[in-house]
Amino acid sequence: MSGVDFRLKQIVYRALEKSKIDFGIPETGGLRTEEMQKALYEAGKSKADGVTNKSKHQYGLAVDVYAYVDGAASWESEHLTHIAAAFLQAALELDTPIKWGGFFHSFTDMPHFELTDIAKG
Ligand SMILES: [Zn+2]
Repeated sequence: MSGVDFRLKQIVYRALEKSKIDFGIPETGGLRTEEMQKALYEAGKSKADGVTNKSKHQYGLAVDVYAYVDGAASWESEHLTHIAAAFLQAALELDTPIKWGGFFHSFTDMPHFELTDIAKG
């Protein structure tokens, strides 16, 4: 989580306390360089190419998570939805608005959480 906005880090820690399902952040799930973002785009794993269309990950304003269930990583929607509930409640308690990628219309991105543009600086 190095380079991730401290407000988002606080939400992650609070969500970890709340969630009954453990979760982690993969190597590409926090702050990304332009090269990392481009590679994910070329692999079809992100809609942002990192150059003309930058990802919030490049500014440290987003994190991606995976669920950790029975000793293994999981991207099952039931697990990620539970974790999302913990994130949204944590964000509410910390008075820092976030968006969950599971509600994105163009590209449902269940592991993704980002600070909104109206998050207080
Ligand atoms: Zn993401």
